[in-house]
Amino acid sequence: MESASPILALEDVVKVYRLGDVEVRALRGITLSVGAGDFVAIMGASGSGKSTLMNIIGCLDRPTSGRYLLAGRDVAGLPKGRLAEVRNQTLGFVFQSFNLLPRTDALENVELPLIYAGVRARERRRRAAEALAQVGLGDRLHHRPNQLSGGQQQRVAIARALVSRPRLLLADEPTGNLDSRTSVEVMALLQALGRSGLTVLLVTHEADIARYAARVVVIRDGLVQSDERRAPEVAVPEVSA
Ligand code: ADP
Ligand code: MG
Repeated sequence: MESASPILALEDVVKVYRLGDVEVRALRGITLSVGAGDFVAIMGASGSGKSTLMNIIGCLDRPTSGRYLLAGRDVAGLPKGRLAEVRNQTLGFVFQSFNLLPRTDALENVELPLIYAGVRARERRRRAAEALAQVGLGDRLHHRPNQLSGGQQQRVAIARALVSRPRLLLADEPTGNLDSRTSVEVMALLQALGRSGLTVLLVTHEADIARYAARVVVIRDGLVQSDERRAPEVAVPEVSA
């Protein structure tokens, strides 16, 4: 389904990995358009090309051929440095393993992208505290990762992704390390962010997680096998005691 203003559009994207004289065609011609504000789950068996696709969408890698427009800009052929700039301005990333610095509190973990962006200390603190409040951790600013539950750690990671005010949030198996109850909490948070206008693209192999998305794209052998839109289930977190 085409939106009036797609945040991203892939046209016939091919990715070939070369290992010596062996070629792996990880993506064989992906065409995909995602409208601003959409909530998309990408599914597919292991080895189907999901991570390769996310790496290209996330400007961490470039297609072998094909076009990639991100927020209206053709990024497929950009040199690495410019690609990093576009990435920092447009995208937020969340991973299965939260990737937080262990001996660093929540506030400083969330500040990190702003340090790289050259934002001044006071403004950094303010924005990091705001992002943590947005994910419901306004009272955990000085907890270190090992003093937080898995779900809270993932929320810190989401705050870190949000702090640079991305337009598109990319999440590769964001609930992969969480129990089902905590997964629902994280999905409820992602849905709330979606309602506030953020575009969310997540990879999951769990149908239980994909049902919270408004659109499910199934990848098989490097091709889009199906692309369906449906009424998403609303994630309702259990009230904790
Ligand atoms: P998924 O995330 O769906 O499990 P991947 O995108 O990781 O799939 O992998 C798709 C295919 O590309 C697989 O056959 C995998 O072995 C291959 N592949 C992935 N990354 C590389 C790489 N860096 N070099 C060579 N082959 C790769
Ligand atoms: Mg993968």
